[in-house]
Amino acid sequence: VRRAPALLALLPLLACVPRAAGGTWRADDLVLGGARFRIAYLPEDAGGARDVARALASAVPRVARWGPLRAPVTITIHPDHASLERAAGREGTPWLRGWATYRKIELQSPRSLGPLDGGRGRLEERIAHELAHCATYQRAGDESTWMFKEIPRWFKEGLATVTAGEGGRVGTLAEVRRDLLAAGSAPDLAARSGPPADGDPLDGSDRAYLARSSSIYRGAHHAFAFLLARYGEARVRDVLDRMGAGNRFPSAFRAAIGIDASDFEAEFRRYVVWQGWRG
Ligand SMILES: [Zn+2]
Repeated sequence: VRRAPALLALLPLLACVPRAAGGTWRADDLVLGGARFRIAYLPEDAGGARDVARALASAVPRVARWGPLRAPVTITIHPDHASLERAAGREGTPWLRGWATYRKIELQSPRSLGPLDGGRGRLEERIAHELAHCATYQRAGDESTWMFKEIPRWFKEGLATVTAGEGGRVGTLAEVRRDLLAAGSAPDLAARSGPPADGDPLDGSDRAYLARSSSIYRGAHHAFAFLLARYGEARVRDVLDRMGAGNRFPSAFRAAIGIDASDFEAEFRRYVVWQGWRG
């Protein structure tokens, strides 16, 4: 069997599929760091597709710390916000710019965003963020199990914002503390366990996510950074590997980190309330 030279795999291959309402979807295939990608876009987003390819080239090495992307990932550039919300199944989320599943990233066209929100630097962060989700899901499960792993929102969003270097964007620990204190009484929040109080930045519910996404991303980012700093990256990777071996998040976390996730969350809240970072 004659094989095409490996170099050919690096060249984008153009494919066309029909578009429902006029125009034609295009697709570029590329291989980066051993992972396979397809970028699907409408003709008006050809420039955005080139920017996404560039952003991918910088995102792939950053995401590599969470393990190889075994399944090919398709990135679809949606021409406007409404079509992104539809594809993500997330209506009423005006701040949403991307959405990731096991092997798909839905992205709002940079062209449809303002120069700040749609700039190349922001696009690089956004692609790294969404790709970190794909890497998490692919390491923690397979196509039929990844969504049943019970991964808390703070863990998956924190992993993504830390990987994408979005710390400067989400806000400071002092702001997480402000969020926590505004949420209710600090002693209750710092208690070892119990259900989240209203306004808790680690609240994993959709209700909280929809009502106050900034506070939820901020809490997630700092909780995950705290987990990495306190327990080390090898143990965090072990959480993913234990899920990949068939466990769900709660038992994988307990085995890899040594405490229940709810105890870790309480530990983080105490650190925040008592301003542990001030030494
Ligand atoms: Zn995310």
